[in-house]
Amino acid sequence: MNIVTDSGHSRPLKNKIVELTSSQRLKRSFKAAGIYLGLALGSVFIPVFHFILVPLFLTLALWAVVSHYKDTRFIDLTDSSCPSCQQALKESAVYFKDQPSRLYCYQCRTQLWIRMDSLH
Ligand SMILES: [Zn+2]
Repeated sequence: MNIVTDSGHSRPLKNKIVELTSSQRLKRSFKAAGIYLGLALGSVFIPVFHFILVPLFLTLALWAVVSHYKDTRFIDLTDSSCPSCQQALKESAVYFKDQPSRLYCYQCRTQLWIRMDSLH
């Protein structure tokens, strides 16, 4: 696996893709939902706006459970750095289902992709 940029820079990734167990996926999705549930609870006390904010955050909590549970794999990026500027990446991990999403280097403002040789 490599991290690549548009300009052709490439850097090998040390860490392998880890398959998440269903309990790990559940734990992760409820953690994400908890943030929105907390926000929903907090906005109960805001006059008038609570009519919009509470349903909004409850919907987002539901969305967070579903979208986070769909991610079945992750790659640890803690020791990885940008192929273009050699700076450490801000993201410590990428969660995904089929294909890792695009990354962004905040130091040199470059789009990065994780290119997989094979899935296993
Ligand atoms: Zn960079």
